[in-house]
Amino acid sequence: METPEQRNARHKKAMQRKKAHIDQRIAAATTDKGLLLVLTGNGKGKSSSAFGMLARSVGHGLRCGVVQFIKGQWECGEHLLFAEHPQVEFQVMNTGFTWETQDRDSDIAAAEATWAHAERLLADNSIDVVLLDELTYMLTYGYLNPDRVLSALQNRPTSQHVIITGRNASKSLIELADTVSEINDVKHAFNAGIKVQKGIDY
Ligand code: ATP
Ligand code: MG
Repeated sequence: METPEQRNARHKKAMQRKKAHIDQRIAAATTDKGLLLVLTGNGKGKSSSAFGMLARSVGHGLRCGVVQFIKGQWECGEHLLFAEHPQVEFQVMNTGFTWETQDRDSDIAAAEATWAHAERLLADNSIDVVLLDELTYMLTYGYLNPDRVLSALQNRPTSQHVIITGRNASKSLIELADTVSEINDVKHAFNAGIKVQKGIDY
């Protein structure tokens, strides 16, 4: 049977191998560029992850722009925290949930007016990080022209990071992105009849 000393020696050897592998990968990652990140899937955690990156960026003194394409029913904590922050420019689409307005023409007009803010941020090289929250729905519903969106993303300043959230990210968006995470819905409290919780859900 393995003695504790042998177990420790085996662990040490495994950790040394792991460290060598990780160090090698870190040394090989030499490119520095603005990233396009897509957070998609049906599970909870897309917007909250995106705002987590925004918090990190603000912490480092970076200048950030946020455009929220669907305005929720509740005043979100992220808006309360960042809207008045000197490093953040925050724009919210001035309609409610799309299934509440039920008016395609006014939704398109609102999507286009909101997209104009995104386009401006994506052309501004003084903005380090742009968060386009719930943008994917504007493409799924056909409210925005996908070529116009892709072209603004492709032509943005090379050092600018962009984070896009929303379900059903399109194939072309996924192809263009550097980092894509699909969050699975394993379980959600709402489906067990639990109402939305301040701080956790909004
Ligand atoms: P979060 O903002 O909490 O990170 P999200 O951005 O991944 O969520 P959205 O589809 O934008 O998800 O939904 C926002 C709201 O819907 C949040 O209150 C969230 O808790 C809730 N929600 C997210 N995913 C689910 C789900 N699978 N079932 C039920 N409610 C969900
Ligand atoms: Mg969201």
